[in-house]
Amino acid sequence: MMKKALLALVALPLALVSLAACAKSGDSSQAGKSNDKPLVATSFYPMYAFTKAVAGDELNVVNILPSNQDIHEFEPSAKATAQMTDAKALVYNDKDLEKWASGVQTKGLKIEAAEAIKTIESDPHTWLAPKEAITEVETIAEGLEKAFPDKKDSFEKNKTAYIKKLEKLDADYQKGLKDTKQKVIVTQHDAFSYMARDYGLKNVAVAGVDPEAEPSSATLVKLKEELQKNKVKYVYTEMNVNDKIAKSLAEGSGAKLVELNTLESITDKDSMDSETYIKIMEDNLKTLESTLNE
Ligand SMILES: [Zn+2]
Repeated sequence: MMKKALLALVALPLALVSLAACAKSGDSSQAGKSNDKPLVATSFYPMYAFTKAVAGDELNVVNILPSNQDIHEFEPSAKATAQMTDAKALVYNDKDLEKWASGVQTKGLKIEAAEAIKTIESDPHTWLAPKEAITEVETIAEGLEKAFPDKKDSFEKNKTAYIKKLEKLDADYQKGLKDTKQKVIVTQHDAFSYMARDYGLKNVAVAGVDPEAEPSSATLVKLKEELQKNKVKYVYTEMNVNDKIAKSLAEGSGAKLVELNTLESITDKDSMDSETYIKIMEDNLKTLESTLNE
């Protein structure tokens, strides 16, 4: 009995303290949450990287794509939908890649990062070209400033600093890909049209937009001819993607396989900062430079 009474005495002030905390924040739903910054949801890693670069520490940016899932096939779970509904802003790439985005019921602002980009038919991978990435960061910043006008100065400062890094990345791509011996890149799926267009390369995709889709045998024959005609030495595959077709294509033509990262499958929280985007894009460039000059 004595023990219980003592517990009650200890518990009471604690309860009062937490009540007071709720009253202070003016929002009881925030009680018990460690992060009381406004919630912003992003669809997958590149959107997270760009949003976080602009938001800095001002917002609680949450990525909804679970690990081992592909954004091309992703359908939001009930938990992800609830997060997006609660969010003050939802950032996604475009209506085509994230078809489900238009169906999300949210009072928050929906920001379509690629809205200002004229998309190349069948390829939504705008983030794989530094120039397009700059446009996406600008669009995201504009949206966030609309949703959180009191944080505009901070967003502008962050945006400018990140775009400077993207401009350096663009300059590196221009310089690195200007005079390569080979100008044709054969890739696993249709993901590099923007990068190819911006830097004078010709992109040929083994599969279509869906990395798991299997091309018809007629397409394979055509691809093999293309490889031989252009003396292609490498076929570019991707992490976490079935590369059976690319493998057989490479074997049939004497080309080797090498990996490029489309940044679609990064879900590890430790590597999910905005710098990782720059680092992986530089790694992709190094791979392209060395293989296209062989
Ligand atoms: Zn893709």
